[in-house]
Amino acid sequence: MIVYVAGASCFTDVMSDPIHEHDTAAAGLDLVANAAAPYLRSLATRPVHDRTRDGLLAELEGPLPAQGVGGPAAVAELLRIGTGAATHVSGPRFFHLVTGGSTPAAMAGDWITSLLDQAGGIWIASPFAARAETVVLGWLKELFGLPASYGGVLTPSATLAHVAGLAAARAWWAGKHGVDVSSQGLAGLPRMPVLSSGLVHVSTRKALQILGCGRDTLQTFARDDSGAIDLPALEEALTRGGPAVIVGNLGDVNTGASDPLDDLADLAERHGAWLHVDGAFGMFAALSPRTAHLARGAARADSITADGHKWLNVPYESGFSFVRDQDDLSRAFGAWGAAYLPEPGDDRVNYNTYGPESSRRARALPIWATLRAYGRDGYRAMVERHLDAAAHLGKLVESAPDLELLAPVQLSIVCFRYRPPGVPEEELDALNARLGARLLADGRVYAGTSTYRGMTVFRPAMVNWRITTAEAEQLITVLRELAAGLG
Ligand SMILES: *Cc1c(COP(=O)(O)O)cnc(C)c1O
Repeated sequence: MIVYVAGASCFTDVMSDPIHEHDTAAAGLDLVANAAAPYLRSLATRPVHDRTRDGLLAELEGPLPAQGVGGPAAVAELLRIGTGAATHVSGPRFFHLVTGGSTPAAMAGDWITSLLDQAGGIWIASPFAARAETVVLGWLKELFGLPASYGGVLTPSATLAHVAGLAAARAWWAGKHGVDVSSQGLAGLPRMPVLSSGLVHVSTRKALQILGCGRDTLQTFARDDSGAIDLPALEEALTRGGPAVIVGNLGDVNTGASDPLDDLADLAERHGAWLHVDGAFGMFAALSPRTAHLARGAARADSITADGHKWLNVPYESGFSFVRDQDDLSRAFGAWGAAYLPEPGDDRVNYNTYGPESSRRARALPIWATLRAYGRDGYRAMVERHLDAAAHLGKLVESAPDLELLAPVQLSIVCFRYRPPGVPEEELDALNARLGARLLADGRVYAGTSTYRGMTVFRPAMVNWRITTAEAEQLITVLRELAAGLG
């Protein structure tokens, strides 16, 4: 193909122009597909990171190529570097940071998303993506026991779902003060009161920060340093101020603990407050009769956040925001006067008017694929397998003379520390930090440390579909082996 290169004095045949791959466009995809089976099989036994990682990372470097290598060569290179340098989070021994895997159907659904490359926010660009989003939001509401009348939108993450839900709350709250915050902004308004327990996740503060409400606006009411809610104190604050936002937490990241959502819903009703629930992974408690009581009350919230890339095991990026009324989102995110957007009330849904994104991928497809593949019963079985694995891990910790369980096992998180007899309290934090660093460097199982009640602790989380009781046992075996080596 002959093209004119601006500024050059001659016509140049640019060999690496993608137009040359018009008829071989699937060649790179074939390479990925062929690499997939051996990679996925290797996850069962390979460490969470490979020894060769650092060397491979350097191979990403280099100047911007003038002449590219062409699609298949570039894809082959990226596959070689990536399969060696990636952290193998989708394997069964990654317990750090509440990290999901990717079910086989979800992963393939994600590939389809890329294959079809839909503009997922505008109905006229893809009725398929819009309808799939409406369908999966309906399925998710059913899965979580939320009213079918609730509205919702898919987001890239729980943090962005907080942005969606809390933007809706902010629009409601400003409305109570006679201000349309979407057009006028926050200027002249007092601070929006936001009240929660000590279980609140940093991402809620981040959302408030993004929304111009200020992350330090959030006030916490806790009975003690576990973060457990002080309901009377929170109610006292509600009676003092005007309209307020309550944030209820369903599943905290250190212990899996939850706020009493029904009590918070009662408070919100009594005081005319907005209830926002963070159920990033905890919302999946609704799937098992063993834990469903924890999620009771979520169905009375005004806005609810949950994650797809955690316990639903959909690849990054996947989150959901649900709201009592779809108009709550459209008030906060609706566009104005763009000619190609249908009028409000039109059932040809433009999901880009319900969330923070404009252009967006067809995020519903991997969710559709995985829910279609495994259904309510398959997900309930997975959640209960994780509940069992966590309970078993908790028992192993309790029966080990050198481990100390620090909170009752709730949901699928176990909070504990290494505490060999005879080591003074003031040395335990440093000892656990050293052990955590060893464990991460070792890579057979992956679980770092966190801070809980001022202590350095482990808090492995089990939300990856591949994790079973066997891997939970391996975590304890490797941890104690490395601890013994610390001297
Ligand atoms: C992970 C998590 C979040 C943030 O989720 P992202 O998807 O990382 O934005 C919020 N709340 C809780 C309880 C979480 O576990």
